[in-house]
Amino acid sequence: MKFTFVTLFSNLVEGYFQDSILKRAIDKKILNIEYINPRDYSDNKHSKVDDTAVGGGAGMVMNPQPLFDCLDKLKKEDEEVHIVFLTPVAKPFVQNDAKRLSKKSHIAFVSGRYEGIDERVVEKYADEVFSIGDYILTGGELASLVICDAVSRNIEGVLGNSDSLSIESFETSLLEAPSFSKPKKYDALSVPSEYLKGNHSRIRSLKLALSESKTKFFRPEQLLKYRTRKSYEK
Ligand code: SAM
Repeated sequence: MKFTFVTLFSNLVEGYFQDSILKRAIDKKILNIEYINPRDYSDNKHSKVDDTAVGGGAGMVMNPQPLFDCLDKLKKEDEEVHIVFLTPVAKPFVQNDAKRLSKKSHIAFVSGRYEGIDERVVEKYADEVFSIGDYILTGGELASLVICDAVSRNIEGVLGNSDSLSIESFETSLLEAPSFSKPKKYDALSVPSEYLKGNHSRIRSLKLALSESKTKFFRPEQLLKYRTRKSYEK
């Protein structure tokens, strides 16, 4: 899978791939990362990429020209490229999107800066737009890394143990049950005794109960989704 980051600040993104799981995936040639700086495509003599907003309003908006030119080139080089814009004005990104996008061969993330991107660019080039939550970041780089990371771990070969994917939070709408590592007792705190008895069916039941209670407390709407689906399956 190839990821292209279209950003004015590739330094903000590059560091994330220099360690751990995604670095190993790059070393194994499962992932390939490239960067495009719209500034390199600006036809302004000072390489300007932004301007004041037409119709007034605070702040600067990213110009269409550099982005039109670099995205045209990107599409010409690879017709399969799936172009994703990061913006708060979009549907929130969720786990099902991560799984679906992991089947693509090439995803390009377009990061906005300043007050955002001229809407004509989004209209013309976006295959999808995503928000990563109801808050405003200074730029789309963190958002694109969040999505890239969540997508990557669903690509075969990226995780050492792909079994972990099937038990994680959101797989069944429920949040994951608490996990514990050794030692069994630490600082006078024990792990739940049921976890220690080796009866796997009882451990599974306890984990499901804990999962349901965590979901009820933190994400009641997810518990409702889970229960509704269960009642259809009956
Ligand atoms: N004026 C915009 C608005 O109110 O919707 C916010 C612009 S924000 C300061 C600059 C850039 O950060 C956006 O163009 C987008 O790429 C990125 N961004 C900010 N918050 C985001 C979020 N919650 N999800 C995805 N991208 C975000």
